[in-house]
Amino acid sequence: MARVNTVLGAVPAAELGFVAVHEHIGYGMPGSELDTQWWKTPEQRYEETVPKLRAFHDSCRPYGAATFVDATGICNGRDIPYYQSLSEKTGVHIVASTGFVGGDTALPFFERASVDYLADQFVHETTVGIGSTGAKAGIIKVGVSRGFQMKELDLRIYRAAARAALATGVPIFTHLAVNAEPAIEIFGEEGLPLDRVLFGHADDGISQGLVRDRWIAEQGGRIGFDTFGYDLELPDPPFWGRPRAERLEHFLGYLRDGLVDSVLASADANCSPLGWPGVKGHTVNYLFEVLLPALREAGIDEDTITRIFVDLPADFLSIKTFSHTHH
Ligand SMILES: [Zn+2]
Repeated sequence: MARVNTVLGAVPAAELGFVAVHEHIGYGMPGSELDTQWWKTPEQRYEETVPKLRAFHDSCRPYGAATFVDATGICNGRDIPYYQSLSEKTGVHIVASTGFVGGDTALPFFERASVDYLADQFVHETTVGIGSTGAKAGIIKVGVSRGFQMKELDLRIYRAAARAALATGVPIFTHLAVNAEPAIEIFGEEGLPLDRVLFGHADDGISQGLVRDRWIAEQGGRIGFDTFGYDLELPDPPFWGRPRAERLEHFLGYLRDGLVDSVLASADANCSPLGWPGVKGHTVNYLFEVLLPALREAGIDEDTITRIFVDLPADFLSIKTFSHTHH
């Protein structure tokens, strides 16, 4: 039976329940753990995080279990022992990621690393463990640097991620779906099937007009509607916000066109942001509080909702075996 790596060990994919496929326990820029203005005590972090995870766990009950995929990766505040304690105490399965949010958040140590070195790092974190925690990564994060254009380091990380995904069977998710042409070329050259890649943030406000999401879907990539809730209707919306109705309509277009298997959805919220104030009023629970009711109101049936939040992410996160060897 297919299994998925969580911070507390491998679990059968069929037992993940409802999956929020791109979230953050706490994301911060490298160095923010020492920032004096935004530094948080452990008590503050638990106080901000536990109620959100408990509410998420309760809402997921009808689906059997709750799974939270942390998209933070290396260098951006990933804290595995903390994730393990949160998971133990709230019952939420937490999947940690290896990889990097983007080339421009990789510290110089990794910035200078070769493709082989980076691939070995991702494989080690996925098959042996992250540091000395014993927790294995369940997914690999990659991303496009600031400026919406792939930089040389981004390309090196994407290639290393493709090799590690083939070697380990875990999937990849991306920060941003813009400039996808070089990414798809790399995945093709390495022989990685594109359904192992979730092209993230295809739905955000600043990507519109730049992201070729239908084209990516035609190539076989999965499309991330994973910034649900960053609505311009928020009291203080972020620069990547988008009108709520417009994002929903974009998503519904896929469902109406029979492309449900091409999409995955999440909120990309921070339970407790690190080194920045975060976006007030936005949590993973948007999925239950706003999105699911909106989908039902739009006539989307329960089977489709279960497919989007249970079956498709279970398939995506399952550790696969690839029979062929490449390069
Ligand atoms: Zn994210």
